[in-house]
Amino acid sequence: MIRDSGTIEKYLRRINTRLVWYRDEPLAPRTTFRLGGRADYLVEPSNAEEVEALVELCYREELPLFVLGSGANILVSDKGIRGLTLATRRLRNLEISNGEATLGAGWEVDEIASLLQEKGYRCLDFAAGMPSSVGGAVWMNARCYDQEVSEIFQEAKILGPNGITSHPRRAEEWAYKVSPFQGQRQIILEARFQLREDDPQRIKTDMDRLRADRESKGHYRSPCAGSIFKNNRAFGQPSGVIIDRLGLKGLSVGGARVSDWHANIIVNTGTATARDVRDLIALVKNKVLENTGFLLEEEVLYVGDWD
Ligand SMILES: Cc1cc2nc3c(=O)[nH]c(=O)nc-3n(C[C@H](O)[C@H](O)[C@H](O)COP(=O)(O)OP(=O)(O)OC[C@H]3O[C@@H](n4cnc5c(N)ncnc54)[C@H](O)[C@@H]3O)c2cc1C
Repeated sequence: MIRDSGTIEKYLRRINTRLVWYRDEPLAPRTTFRLGGRADYLVEPSNAEEVEALVELCYREELPLFVLGSGANILVSDKGIRGLTLATRRLRNLEISNGEATLGAGWEVDEIASLLQEKGYRCLDFAAGMPSSVGGAVWMNARCYDQEVSEIFQEAKILGPNGITSHPRRAEEWAYKVSPFQGQRQIILEARFQLREDDPQRIKTDMDRLRADRESKGHYRSPCAGSIFKNNRAFGQPSGVIIDRLGLKGLSVGGARVSDWHANIIVNTGTATARDVRDLIALVKNKVLENTGFLLEEEVLYVGDWD
């Protein structure tokens, strides 16, 4: 627990009496893995001004800051996250103009894609059924069904060391699972995307098909974080196929298990700790390296207080 909680809490109350914040907040229910420790402080700002004030608090009190989207690509340590965890879920502005949509970072991708579908627009429809916030999808350059976020991304409003600025699309900054926001101390507040007009029913049919496909592939069967490892073209096969061919489906450490239906998915069978998952990831990596010479790279991100 951080030391000067009195100062921090006084400041949090001063930002806005309606600011939503929690002390010693369990993070497991806020991640798709459903495991991990607690956040010293979890805050849920609902506008850019509150985010700015929180970032200033972090600078002033030298508090670490972690930005939490939908928690669908992270493994939070059993010891939790020190400092301030800023959950974006209340950042839900929406503006549509000139064939583009500006979306607050906290929208759930599936929810906002449905809302735009009803208005006759395709935007992030290819990611229907993917657990993700808009900010997380941009940060990760989420990719599915041969489309990725960078293809429709136009600009992001970000809060970084120079205050609030705009970051326009520059094609050369994007690649497979790479966005220009990674490794930066920046918070994506909102992003502007290209819209494509289409018949609402046709978009809905396509989105429902993708959701059903995910369902049939077992995406929602047990708590997980989607693909654990990135794919690497140089290996000639997707990571899941490599792991499967080594017979590693079902391999377990504690309550963590390589799923029986997709070898690139590790599931929490109900009792997994973050340590179990991390140890299982290391075991799979070692077996793949020993048997094929390929070094798999994690897509899932280790977050919080690891030894
Ligand atoms: C069942 C399932 C299926 C999945 N399928 C896919 C798939 O098909 N394709 C795919 O690409 N991924 C997939 N994933 C992984 C995951 O859905 C994506 O990576 C998603 O985009 C993560 O977004 P998030 O909001 O959950 O981010 P989080 O997991 O909360 O955070 C991920 C990273 O983004 C940063 N971040 C989040 N929001 C912001 C922000 N506003 N500003 C700055 N940084 C931010 C966080 O700090 C963290 O470093 C799947 C996951 C699950 C559980």
